[in-house]
Amino acid sequence: MIRAEKLNKSFGSLHVLKDIDLEVQKGDVVVIIGASGSGKSTLLRCLNFLEMADSGEIYLEGKRIDPDKTDLNQVRQQVGMVFQHFHLFPHRSVLENIIEAPLYVKKTDREKAEAMGMSLLEKVGLADKAHVYPHALSGGQKQRVAIARSLAMQPKVMLFDEPTSALDPELVGEVLAVMKELAQEGMTMVVVTHEMGFAQEVADVVVFMDEGRIIEAGKPGQIFHSPKEERTKAFLSKVL
Ligand code: ADP
Ligand code: MG
Repeated sequence: MIRAEKLNKSFGSLHVLKDIDLEVQKGDVVVIIGASGSGKSTLLRCLNFLEMADSGEIYLEGKRIDPDKTDLNQVRQQVGMVFQHFHLFPHRSVLENIIEAPLYVKKTDREKAEAMGMSLLEKVGLADKAHVYPHALSGGQKQRVAIARSLAMQPKVMLFDEPTSALDPELVGEVLAVMKELAQEGMTMVVVTHEMGFAQEVADVVVFMDEGRIIEAGKPGQIFHSPKEERTKAFLSKVL
């Protein structure tokens, strides 16, 4: 579904991504783990072209995306992203937040967009909040709205960058439950998270990054129970 080949990215003299190769099969959940500063967010941002890699290639459904010849907004519609902080529009209702892009970017007609928005709100368990404003929601509810908003563009892949890191602990579970359901429905997902339980349970592939490199990748059972690399062992001994 999405593939990165030999991605490199530097900020000034800081080499943040080093020859990153990553392949995500359709319907798979790839969970990226690693210490703070290892380049996880930068990798997701490059996959979504929010950040331009200095070298390397990105393929979506087998087609190379040439940033000079492609409408990157269209790519971003196909590759949804959910951030740690929710970035909801504060002056729009929950439903308006969700249908904004379908209405104005995709030019979906309002009736259709609203029906789709309501069904997405049902999916994330927030149909009763359609007409409230974001400030009236808990962090977990805001993040579920952000997920619904991203889904409204019918992306082919969803990228999640620490979607539960800003939440109070008691709100983490409701967001992970929505993500798990999405995974079970077959959504292709790349998830950066510190929630090792989620990684063990939901991931098809776990990728460990350190200092801008993919150190190892494998099935969750292999990475968590018999990591091959010393650096992976050292990281896991701190977080498990
Ligand atoms: P992670 O998400 O794994 O914590 P990041 O991808 O956010 O790591 O950051 C990797 C490194 O790149 C860090 O050292 C960070 O300070 C640096 N970095 C990230 N974004 C920028 C930027 N826009 N400008 C300069 N340095 C950045
Ligand atoms: Mg990050």
